[in-house]
Amino acid sequence: MKLGLFGRPVAHSRSPRLFARLAVLLKRPVSYEAVLVAGRLQVAVVRARAAGWRGANVTVPLKETAAALADRLTSEAAALGAVNVLRFGRLVEGHNTDADGLRDALRAAGFAVRGKRALVFGAGGAARAAGWALAREGAKSVRFSARTPSRARRSAHALAPHFPNTRFSAGAPAAAEVWVNATPLGMKGFPDRSPAPKSLPSPALAVDLVYGRRTAFQRDAAARGARVADGAGMLVHQALRAWEYWDKPLGAKRRTALAVPLLKEVLK
Ligand code: NAP
Repeated sequence: MKLGLFGRPVAHSRSPRLFARLAVLLKRPVSYEAVLVAGRLQVAVVRARAAGWRGANVTVPLKETAAALADRLTSEAAALGAVNVLRFGRLVEGHNTDADGLRDALRAAGFAVRGKRALVFGAGGAARAAGWALAREGAKSVRFSARTPSRARRSAHALAPHFPNTRFSAGAPAAAEVWVNATPLGMKGFPDRSPAPKSLPSPALAVDLVYGRRTAFQRDAAARGARVADGAGMLVHQALRAWEYWDKPLGAKRRTALAVPLLKEVLK
């Protein structure tokens, strides 16, 4: 199966290694090419389809563009306004596996969020996906706190209609049992500081979407006594969900088993 990744930049991406390992584990021939899209995503898509690709992952900063160019979107991708997986057939279909990837990762880490208050730092596509995942897992409330308040409000408004049992809000950080860092703070090339104010009460659980490094957010949450997970689990699980979208369902048990060697691969 021919697959690939569109993004800008893509050199740092661990997806090619991840899918190479998955191909070995599944005993399937897979080619996976990372394509730096400097111009229009549409042009890259036309080329990939002509070369016989089955689909592609989409990463920063093209997820919204991918949602706009797809002929058809899954309900999740439409609600999140972002596509991280394209599937090429007669039509170009767009899906978003970040939310399910985070749900799978929360479960794998034994993080139960049902009935809890969640605070999401950031208001981009990943923050929305986190809000979706938390609400699907039964969080009592989800608050978006971001440096651009209007973006946080838009994220809350976009998700609220889908989850009548979860209260969505936006604004200054407020007490919550679950924190999610969905900002790039701590990522290579960004300042490494925690977005959580010192005065905020401690959470029980903290999930950083940044992976592969011990960030200030993770250190801060751990020092306050929280159980901490980084974004590697989400990365692996969103990839397994993408594979299912291109191929056929693996099922929860198989995904859980495959996630173990894949996690080792991405953290190498
Ligand atoms: P995005 O659309 O650019 O949104 C980033 C958010 O963080 C925005 O609210 C932005 O605020 C805020 N932000 C950016 N720089 C900041 C700073 N210096 N201080 C405070 N806030 C800042 O990005 P995204 O696609 O949502 O991704 C966010 C993070 O999640 C990235 O680190 C990405 O690698 C990670 N991610 C991980 C996975 C995974 O599988 N583990 C999956 C997806 C994303 P403004 O709106 O004001 O710019």
